[in-house]
Formats: sequence, C-alpha cells, structure tokens
Amino acid sequence: MLAEELVLKQRTKILHALCSSGSAEHLERVLDILLAKGALIWEDYQNIQVPGRTLYTNARQLLDLVYTKGVDTCGLFLAALKLALPEAQAVGLSFSESCSNLQENDECQSTSNQTLLAQRPSLVHKLQGCVDGVLAALLDSGHFSSADCDEVRLPIYTPTQQARRLLDHVRSRGDLAASVLLQYIHQKQEPGLPLNQRELTPPKEFLKYQKKLSSSVSAQACFLSTYAGTSHMSLDDIYTDGQLELAEVNAHGPLGLEDIVGLVGIVNEEADTVLVSGEAGSGKSTLLQRLHLLWARGVALQDFLLLFPFSCRRLNSEHNELSVQELLFQHCCWPDRNQEEIFQFILDHPHQILFTFDGLDELKQSFTDEHRVCCPTQRAPVHVLLFNLIQGSLMKGVQKVVTSRSEAVSPLLKKHLRKEVVLKGFSPTGIDSFVRKHHRDPTVAAKVLESMQANTALLGLCHSPVLCWIVSQCHKELLGCGEGSPKTITDVYLMILQHFLQHQSPLKSTMGLGWLQEHLKTVLLLGQLAFEGITSTCYIFSGTDLEACGVTEKDICMVFLIKSKDMSSTHSKCYEFSHVTLQCFFAALFIVLSSNTNRSVIPKLFELENRETGLTRVCFTACLPSSDQQQQASEKESKAAETPNLQITAMFVSGLLSQRHQNLWLHCCPSAAVEKKARQVARCLSKGIQKHFRSIPQPVQGEKKSMHAMPDFVWLIKCLYEMQESRIAKDAMSKLEVDHLKLTYCNIGPVECTALAYVLQHLRNPVGLQLDNNSVGDVGVEQLLPCMHICNSLYLRNNNITDEGIRKLIAKVIQCDSFQKIALFNNKLTDACMQDFSYLLKTKQVFISLRLGNNNITAEGAKQLAEGLKANQTLAYLGLWGNRIGDAGTEALASSLERSNSLVWLSLVGNGVGSAGACALANLIRKSTSLQELWLTENCITRTGVECLIQALKHNTHVTSVWLRNNDLSLEDAEEMKQLESRLIF
Ligand code: ADP
Repeated sequence: MLAEELVLKQRTKILHALCSSGSAEHLERVLDILLAKGALIWEDYQNIQVPGRTLYTNARQLLDLVYTKGVDTCGLFLAALKLALPEAQAVGLSFSESCSNLQENDECQSTSNQTLLAQRPSLVHKLQGCVDGVLAALLDSGHFSSADCDEVRLPIYTPTQQARRLLDHVRSRGDLAASVLLQYIHQKQEPGLPLNQRELTPPKEFLKYQKKLSSSVSAQACFLSTYAGTSHMSLDDIYTDGQLELAEVNAHGPLGLEDIVGLVGIVNEEADTVLVSGEAGSGKSTLLQRLHLLWARGVALQDFLLLFPFSCRRLNSEHNELSVQELLFQHCCWPDRNQEEIFQFILDHPHQILFTFDGLDELKQSFTDEHRVCCPTQRAPVHVLLFNLIQGSLMKGVQKVVTSRSEAVSPLLKKHLRKEVVLKGFSPTGIDSFVRKHHRDPTVAAKVLESMQANTALLGLCHSPVLCWIVSQCHKELLGCGEGSPKTITDVYLMILQHFLQHQSPLKSTMGLGWLQEHLKTVLLLGQLAFEGITSTCYIFSGTDLEACGVTEKDICMVFLIKSKDMSSTHSKCYEFSHVTLQCFFAALFIVLSSNTNRSVIPKLFELENRETGLTRVCFTACLPSSDQQQQASEKESKAAETPNLQITAMFVSGLLSQRHQNLWLHCCPSAAVEKKARQVARCLSKGIQKHFRSIPQPVQGEKKSMHAMPDFVWLIKCLYEMQESRIAKDAMSKLEVDHLKLTYCNIGPVECTALAYVLQHLRNPVGLQLDNNSVGDVGVEQLLPCMHICNSLYLRNNNITDEGIRKLIAKVIQCDSFQKIALFNNKLTDACMQDFSYLLKTKQVFISLRLGNNNITAEGAKQLAEGLKANQTLAYLGLWGNRIGDAGTEALASSLERSNSLVWLSLVGNGVGSAGACALANLIRKSTSLQELWLTENCITRTGVECLIQALKHNTHVTSVWLRNNDLSLEDAEEMKQLESRLIF
C-alpha cells in the first residue's frame, strides 16, 4: 500500500497513538524529525504548533499537511512515527514498507541555524540536563534576556519541551545565537576539543578488534539467560521497556535507554560512573544486555567505539591479580594481534570507551576507596581494580555503567556517581506487552492477562519483570487454579517450583505422593547449595561445589540451575541459579525443610545489626552439617553475608511457614519442627517491628508524632504479608502510636502497597500516610484501598498516578469518615478526573486540603472542580500550582469560592493567569471571610489585574499576602503598586 493511503486509512489510529497519552511528546518528536529531514519547513511547523490549541487539533493539522505534500512526505512521516512512538503505542499500526532513511545529518550545514534544524532530534536529546548551562551562555553573550530564559524554563514544560522551546527561541535570535548553542553542546561532549575535530581514524588492528568484540558481545547478549535451560528466547522477541527514572531529579519524565549514558540528570560532572539501581528481578541485567546488543549492532551508544561488559558475579571467581589491560582482554575479548597498540588507543581515547559492570551487589567485597591504583598496567586484585575504575582513579574519562540493588548502594559509592537511574520494573502497558510477546498465541496471551487482571495482588507482583515472567510461564497452573490463585511472592515461587518439578522431569508417581515429596531429595540438595551460597556470597558453583552438595546431572537439568555464561573461557563448567531470587527461595526451602539447620538460624536471619563480617558467617556455618563446616572454615575469605539476599530469604521463610502452606510439608518433615519454626518467625517479626517503633523519637511539643520508616520496616511489613496471618499482623501493629507515617523514597511499588495495606489496616488510630516519591502507580493505589479507612491524609506526590487510579481511590475514600487531605503533586492527572474530585468535595463535608500541583489540568478541569467547590464548606487549602487553568479556569474557581468561608490558602502559581483571572480573584478577595494567602507567582498578570486586586484588598483585612512575583509588570510598576498595598509581594 502506498504511504499516502496508509496515512489516510489509519488516520484515527495514528491520532490515537499520538495523542491518547495526553502528552505532546510523541507529536513533537515526529515534528522534530520531519523538520530535520526538510519534510516540513519552519512555517509549516508554526502552523501546526499553535499554542493554546488542543493536541488533537495540532495532530490533525499535521496529518492534513503531510497528506497534501504527497507520497514522499507520507513515507517520511510514517518512518518518523515508527521511531517516535513507544512500542505499546505503535501496536496495530502498519508502517510503509519502504522505510525512509532517517539517519540524521550530522555534518555542519552552511549556517548554524540550518545545523540547528538538521540536528534537531539529537539536539533535543543532548540539551536535556544542560538547558540551564546554554541559557547562561546565551545570557552572557547578550542573545537572551532573563525574561527569555524564564519563558524557556516555565515549569509547565517537560525537559524535552524546554529543550525545544530553547531551540525555537534561539532560531528567532539569528545565526550567532545558534552558534553559541552549538558551541556549548560540542564542548560538553568533548571537553577540550575544538569544534569539528571529533573525527578520528582508528588503526586497522583496532577496527578488527572492535569487530571481534562486538560480535562476541552480540553473541552473549542475544538470548535471555533465564530461558537458557528451557528454551532459547531471543532478546529481540521478549525485551520489553522497563520504567527508568532519575533517582535525584524528579522533574524529568521517564527516561529512555540512551539517557543512561546521556546528558540528562547528571549530578556530578566530574564522575564517570552511572549507577542503574533497582530491586532484585527488576530487570537490571536484562537492561544491560539490551544495551550491549544495541551497541554491538550499531543501533545505540554509537559514541562509544568499544564496550566491555563485565559481570561482578563472574569477577568473584577471578583469584589472580590483574592489570586493567589483562582484565579487559582476558575477561571480555582477546585481541588477535597488536595488543599494546590497541590498549594504547583505548588509553588515548577514554571518552569513546564504555565499561559495564552488572551486579555490583554480588561482588564479595563491599565498595571502599581505600586502596589506590592509578596505573593501568599495575596488577591488583580484581575488586580493587573495579573500585578504582568506578572512582575514576583508573581510566579516567571512560564511562562506566554499574548495576546494583538499591539497598546495597553505600553512601561512599554515591559520592562517585555521575548519576543514578532507578529501574522500576514494568508499567501496566509493559506487563501487557510482555505477556503478548511471551505467548505468541493471542488467545493464550489474552487469557493469561485476564487471569492476572482478575487478581490485583498478583497484578501488583507482575510489575517486577522476574515475577511477571514466572507468572506468565506458569500460565497453565494459573488458569486452572481458580480459588487458590497466587497472592504472595512465595505463592508465585511455589508455583514455579511445582511447574518445573512436574513438567520438566515427570516422575511416575506410583505411591500417590505429593509433588514436593516426590522431589524432596532434589529440593533439599539444591536448597543446601543455595543456602551455603547465600551465606558466603557465592553465586557461581563449580562442578566440585555441586558434587560436595550431592547435586547430580539430573538435578541440574531441572532448569533452576543454568550454565554460567562467561566471556572468557577460563571457567569451563560452572552453574548458577537462573535468578538470584530463586537461589534465595531454595535457601528458604532448605531452612524450612532441613532438620540439619540449628535453632538460631531463623533468629539470625531476621536480625539486622549483627551482619558484620564473621559473625553471621560463623552463625550460619554452625547451621550446617559438620563436614561442611570444616570445608567452609577453611575458606580463606570470610566475608559479610549479603543483607539484601538474606532479607529476601527471610521473606520466603515467612511465606513458606505460613499456615496456608503447612499441608505442603506434611510427610516431608516433622510437623512439630515446622510449627516451631513458624512460631520463631512470628516472634522475630513482632520483635523487629516493636524495635522499630521504639526507635521513633518523641514529638516536639505541639507537633504530631511522626515516624519516618527505614527500608527495613518495609521489609518486615513484606514478611508479615507473606505470612498471611492477620493475627500476627494485628499483634505487631497494635502497639504503633503515631499520627504520621512517612515512607518517602522507600521504593514503594505496587507489591509493597499490597503488603502495607494488609498490615496498616490493623492500626488503631487514623494516620497520615506519606508515600511521596515512590512508584505507587494506579495499581499500587488500588492495593492501598483496604487501609484507607485508617488514613486521615494521603500524600502521593510524584508517583505516576493517572485519572484511572484517582477514580478508584475517590470511590473508596468518600466512604471513609476520617479522610481529610490528599496531595498529588506531580502525577499524571488530567481534566478527566476533576469530576471525581468535584464529587469528593460535594460528598465529604470534612475534607480540608486538596493539592493537585504540576499535573495536566486545564480550564475545563477547573470548571468541573468549581462545581464541587460550590457545594463544599470545609476545604481550607487548594493547590493547583503548575497546571494550565488560565483565565477561564480561574474565573470559574473564584466565583465558586466566593461562597466558601473555610478556604484560607489558594495557589494558582504558574497557570497562565492573566488580568481577567486576577480581577475574578479580586472579587473573591472582596467577598471572602476566610482567605489568608493567595499565590499568583509566575503568571501573566498586568498592571490592570493588580489594580483590581488592590481595590479589593481595601475591603479585606483577613488576607495577609498576595504573591505576585514573575508576572507581566515592570520594576517601576511593581514598586509603585507595593507602595499602594504592602500585602502584595513582588
Ligand atoms: P535483575 O538483574 O534486576 O535482578 P534480571 O535482568 O535478571 O533482573 O531480570 C530477571 C528476569 O526478568 C529476566 O530473566 C527476564 O525473564 C525478566 N525480564 C527482566 N527485564 C526484562 C525486560 N526488559 N524484558 C523482558 N523480560 C525481562
């Protein structure tokens, strides 16, 4: 089909794909590409991007235009669309066969302004994280005024929009301004190198080496490791984008893979190491694998000539001292010739080299900066090399990407980070897309998705890619199990255990034994191996290790253990658990089933403070049979057992010892022993929580008693949830007496929300629940509903919540008597949920505070909210900072609020409010008997508007301040107005 026809036929679908998210990003990306390719001229662009017009209208305008421009433009448009849309949005669209070449022209054009246009897509990308720097340069060079800078930095813009507004402004200021911008970007990329000198011609041997390395990286990366034992699942077929966010700067939207090493979000310019953190199973290794593959194929990270991938797990087994050169060549790829020349080239071009280290948390040694090595030919233990590389004392300038679990990142390591990016698992559309990729048969996929969606606790778990994989893999069990559908993480792992035990090696059960009983020997052997590994930070097992535990070929074929991949060929046959969480699960099975472990193993597992070198080791060693003890004791290194893995193991132990699973252990071990262990766990959990409560400081007089939970608190809560025994949860919670429970920046996702709600519903008195800066999302909100009756306020700032989540939340909280406050700053709310808030305001005459800043609310939404406000007599705080309600929205709100005698604080900062809005607010001031503070900073109010406010203030003595900084007023005007009314603040 011709490109023109494709555009016409798919018009509705394209519009939906471009606009349904409510964000203009996809449309703007397409426009960037079309401008760069010359398919649109500047005037076209201006006719499409008309400020104030709806996104759909703009997109329609673009579709009309490309259609009229003919087949070539339509072809380019489709190719641009394919590139700009995320996978999930592009589903169902077909793109033209003749894939137009969208390769960006990175040659310098005859004028800087032309270069700006030809390189627009990559400039938008490169400008992120340095908009402020460019603005400062333009201010210095006199091309921009501070008002120009403010306009670019308006908080309503996303970072990419700021970059585009900057490019648009620069264009209008002429060629010199454009060259200032380009110069800045070039210097950023290549410090010390003048413009246009980035070309380099590597020696021939180097190019050969590059080819060899990339083909070996590609071979290593093209299959997903979890599937090694079962089937070969190609990464291309299964890879699904996870949610990536910056750890520090919240204002940036979701990141793409290339942003990991890009300019966005840099917190320390001098550092070379980027950390990708996330929970176990959140997809860190897979993400690195994807980056490796894209690099090897020449699709991404093309600023890097060489990429050296390392696995810390494998580096653990390197016992020789090495130099950096040996490390690179022996562990990644050996050059056939001219080693010295190649290494010299690497040393001379550090900015074009990338190292990746997967699983820093799995390294036996914790990060320190004590031992310095600065010379690349000096030999040192591998961990010392690694720490020096991370700090940059070795191979300064080489970029390094390191992955680690969040809990295992020490403050010392943070000091050396260029930026930290957090991987937060799959989004709801990611889950959908993953399951559809996993099951080629669409009817199976639909059924699996349906059963996931029917069980919200399970759906919550599926945000973690590893659990999503397990659940999807075990779809037969899932579809058949009705009532007993898995709820906890332990349930999910038990499901996979049963799945593989029964499917991979079906034993003929002649004696009618249970599935676990039939395979008990294997489970115990693997369990012991796992347990010993976890307690000695060992994740790779040699043939001898396996023999020592009695693990046989047959057990290995069970897929729980897979062959260890290695870039170097030194380790012939080694095995590892197919995921570290599976190793923890087997360790937990061993603790529960074995009669060999001693009594202190469970208390030690739940005890956090004593996890220093030696102590835990000694304790766990004592838990093993004596022959093993000798062997363990003879090991040279006795390292600190790793807390995150022990915590996961403890969580599984809680789950396995739950009453719900006690039948499973019948005939596998003595019931009395299991019951005893279960009582031990319950005692440990209760003690742990009490200890946490005792650490809460007494409140300052007059303030509320507040508890800021530590990450361990979340872990204990998750253990309580795994146990699924409300009596124990109730017991643990009954003694908590706080007014405010703060869990900000605690990595709370949907899984944690389920556990929190399960435990918090047993609190005796209502609390304020503060969950700001987590990744709760709509699914998490739904999980929280069971504890809403015990919340008087809910803070969910910056949590990826959309209208959908709000709808469910409000339907619940209107039934909760004590619910009074909600804060939803920086989420993804639009006008579509304003009706729900309106209903909340009408229905709940105890509601006090509504904060909806930095969302996507327009005049339409404000009008709906105003309907609710008319009928409310309790709201005291209304915050709408950083939306787009404009004059019309302000007029509607002001007119409704005139009747309120409860409102004391109103913020409409950064909302495009002009003088008409200000005059409406003046009326509110005139009539209100309660209003004290009015925030109107960063709007476009002129002298006329302020004069109205002054007149109104003459009739009002309650208002204490009206904030008017950054409006359309000259300094003289502001000075004059201030003289007339001292409550105005400019
Ligand atoms: P981590 O390194 O954070 O512990 P992994 O990358 O090992 O997590 O992921 C565990 C499993 O989850 C993978 O083996 C795979 O089955 C699944 N998985 C993780 N990320 C993705 C992804 N982006 N796309 C598809 N599957 C994924």
